[in-house]
Order: sequence, then C-alpha cells, then structure tokens
Amino acid sequence: MRGTDPAAAAIVAQAAACESLDALAGVVRGCVACPELAALRTSVVVGDFPYGARLLLVGEGPGATEDEVGRPFVGKGGQLLDALLAEAGLDRAQVAVANVVKCRPPGNRTPTPAEARRCTGWLDRQLALAAPSLVVTLGLTALRWASGTGLRLRDVRGVVRDWRGTRLLSTYHPSAALRFGPAGEPMAMLRADLRVAAEAVS
Ligand code: URA
Repeated sequence: MRGTDPAAAAIVAQAAACESLDALAGVVRGCVACPELAALRTSVVVGDFPYGARLLLVGEGPGATEDEVGRPFVGKGGQLLDALLAEAGLDRAQVAVANVVKCRPPGNRTPTPAEARRCTGWLDRQLALAAPSLVVTLGLTALRWASGTGLRLRDVRGVVRDWRGTRLLSTYHPSAALRFGPAGEPMAMLRADLRVAAEAVS
C-alpha cells in the first residue's frame, strides 16, 4: 500500500507541491527514494511532455539507451513505437511519453512492486498536470499502474474506457512486439491499438 511506505508518501507530498511539469522534472531528477536504482542510474528519465499533448503513452521504465540519453523510448522499442505512431498518423514530437519508473532497473528487470509504488507518485502528478485526453498504457507494468493487479492485458486491450476523469487504452509493450516479430500478435495488436488511439484523440 502506498500509505504504508514513508518514501512513497513523501513522493506524493513532494509531487503535489509541484505546480508545473518543469518544476516536477527538477524535483524528480534529485529523487533517491530507490537506493539501488539511484546508485546505478546515469539519468533520471523524467519523460517527454510536449506542450498541449492530447495523448500520453506510459511504458515500464528506461532501458540502457534511455538511461544513457535521458529520454524515454529512444532505443529499439522506441524506434518501433515512433514508426507505428507515424503509421497511425501521430507525430511522436506531439505525444507525451513517460514511464512507471524513472530510473533504469538493472539488467532491464521488471521494477519491484516497491519501486513502482514509489515512482507512481511522480507519474500520477505528471498525469494531473499534463491532463491528456487519452492515456495509452504499454505492457503489463503500466496496466498495473492504471488498473491494479487484477486484469489481464489480453482481456482489456484495445478498448477505450473512461478512467480518472480522462480515457484509458491498454495495449502491448513495443518490446513484446519486437520479441514476437513482425508476424506476431503483439505487433498486430499494438499497431491496431495505436490506430484506435489516433482516432480517439483526433
Ligand atoms: N521500455 C520502456 O518501458 N520504457 C522506455 O522508455 C524504454 C523501454
């Protein structure tokens, strides 16, 4: 529970005090709430928030390239994402992109529940400040951030639903699409769902 972890509660309080995405970014860059991640990171990957973006994509956490560059989805998965966004008629430069955790989990492991719980204080505030008209979660970690642990991706994906005063669409992570290849189901579903997202924000 977020309320039982003092570090998570402190982040929620710090985030609430930030009145803009820029102010929040400055504070997040100094976060050391997860000692292992803070010790190993090169960058805190705060996210891309172009002014007025109607669409917010949420992934799991930075990989090696993102940690090096300091921006989300700039590695192989990001290149695929950019291409599928473009196919759907969306310009990545006008799309907000963030992750559940802002620091790279070593070896690209899944963030622990404690890491995810802490860092979502920042993401929740980014969501409130950015106020997108649609959030698209990519993969299971982001689905869990949005909807808790009870749902299976295959049961909810592809459907735009009302959520937290905005709308939510859940789909596969680009890394799953890369893993299963161009003929795999995750690629087809991700491509189709991004088209649904483009339509929903048009
Ligand atoms: N995978 C993610 O979930 N996020 C990134 O930013 C990069 C890879």
